[in-house]
Parts: sequence; C-alpha cells; structure tokens
Amino acid sequence: MLREETVEEISDGRLYTANDMVRVGTNDCSGCSDCCRMGPVIVLDPLDVFELNRFLGRSFEELLNDTIELKVIDGLILPVLKLVKDSSHEKTPSKVPQGSGSSETLSCNAQGNPLSAAGDTSDEAMVCPYLGDDGRCSIHDFRPGICRLYPLGRSWENGDFHYILQVNECTRPAVTKMKVRKWLGIPGLSAYEDFCRSWHSVLEKTRLLLEGTEPDSALRRRVCIYILRQFYMCDWNVDDFYSTFEARRGEAMGKLGFAQPARGTSAGLPAEDFGLL
Ligand code: SF4
Ligand code: SF4
Repeated sequence: MLREETVEEISDGRLYTANDMVRVGTNDCSGCSDCCRMGPVIVLDPLDVFELNRFLGRSFEELLNDTIELKVIDGLILPVLKLVKDSSHEKTPSKVPQGSGSSETLSCNAQGNPLSAAGDTSDEAMVCPYLGDDGRCSIHDFRPGICRLYPLGRSWENGDFHYILQVNECTRPAVTKMKVRKWLGIPGLSAYEDFCRSWHSVLEKTRLLLEGTEPDSALRRRVCIYILRQFYMCDWNVDDFYSTFEARRGEAMGKLGFAQPARGTSAGLPAEDFGLL
C-alpha cells in the first residue's frame, strides 16, 4: 500500500538490504499479537494467494467467503485479509490501522456483484481471521509477505526497493539484531525479491494506465477485474510459482499495451476491448 509519509517519518531513516543487520528481534513475539489486531491492512499479492491455495487447499473464491475480502487499495481492487470480530480476546484499545485512509471496502465482488456490508464492524475489536485462540498465527509457515516483513517495510524508488525498519509499528522494543534475510525466513530470497519487483511493476503500470480515469469508470472496473482474474482467480495449482507468474505477467503487459505481446497473441489493446465482462 502506498503511503504518504516520508521514509524519515516512519522509519529509523536507514535503507537495508537482505544482508544487513537490523534491530528487529522481538523475542519471537512471545505473548504478543498486537499487529494481528487491527494492525496494518494486509494486502495479498499473488504469491500469498498461491500459498493459501496450496496449504489450505482452498481456492481464491472459497477464501473470499470468509477470510479475505476485496478492497480498493490506491485505486486498484486487491484482496486483503478480512478482519473478524475478536471473540476470544479482550478488546484492545488499538492502534489505528495503518493506511486506513487510503483503502475502502469494495461494494462489489470480482464478478461485479454487490457485496453486503457484513464484517464492517468498525466499533468492534477486530482481529485477523488466522489469529488462533492461543494468540499465535495459525498459518505461520505460509503467512503473507507483509506479515513476514513486519515491522519491516519496503521503500520503493525507480522500480527497486530497500527494506526499512518502521519505528511506529511494533509495540515492543526490539532487543536483538539479526540479518534481514533471517528475519524474513524465505527460501530462495532473491527469486522472491525479483517477484516483488515484477509485481510492483504490474501495479505501478496498471495505476499509470488508469491515471485520470474516474474511480467508478467502466474502464477502471474492467482493468481491475482483469488483474484479479489474471493473477488471483486463476488456477494456482502449479509447481513453479515464479515462472508461471512471469508468464502471466508478460501476457498481462501485452494485453495492457505495455509490452510486445507473445507471438500468436493479440497486440496491446485498449482496455475497453478486453471483452472481459
Ligand atoms: S496472517 Fe498471521 S501473522 Fe498475519 S496478521 Fe494474520 S495472524 Fe497475524
Ligand atoms: S507488535 Fe511486535 S512483538 Fe507484537 S506481534 Fe507484532 S511484531 Fe511481534
């Protein structure tokens, strides 16, 4: 999610790479789950959905029934973890959700049908649907990338990023230093980082394409639905996520008119001609 604050305002001012040491150790967060309770808006990328599909055996459409929802995030329709009422914990006088001013609950689903307002209980204590009664993440091994990062974040410039340490997020003082790479614990980190750059570029270019269009325009809706179908609602039952993602990205870039289309496919089309609805 794009943020309006400067890196200096939200971080310790340093830019980190995967091999840098950062003071981020929170003693395994033991006894604390503050950031899973009305914490940051957890926007899911295609890899997050692939992992949820794979480990939970549930399709994107099934997840949309209970644990994820669609929101408008910086002008695009994207899936986020859907907060649910906190039934097992005391109400936490909580931190304000990060980025709460730049997202809005979507009034339609990916098929363009209206969604009910169920789940929007802003006066209630809310938690992530995957927070277990024991206060631990029930999907820890395949939790979304944003959760892996936290309280780290990414700062983007010219299509590339550095890690930053967000200083106003974690409620516990970090006591130990560790390598960013170790904190993330992601196997094949450089391939993952390449994926992050590629996905960021898809979002950036799509936003560029839609610049100046009305929030409720038919063009914006068609392009957003195309992105959802191309990267989330597709069959993610594949062995190699990264190569499949790259193939889908190349196809999307051709379709949106940003790249030469693959041989045998149609040239970049005005989005009105997608015929997607
Ligand atoms: S997925 Fe896990 S780590 Fe992420 S917010 Fe939910 S409970 Fe917390
Ligand atoms: S607020 Fe800090 S210590 Fe608490 S769960 Fe989040 S990262 Fe861990």
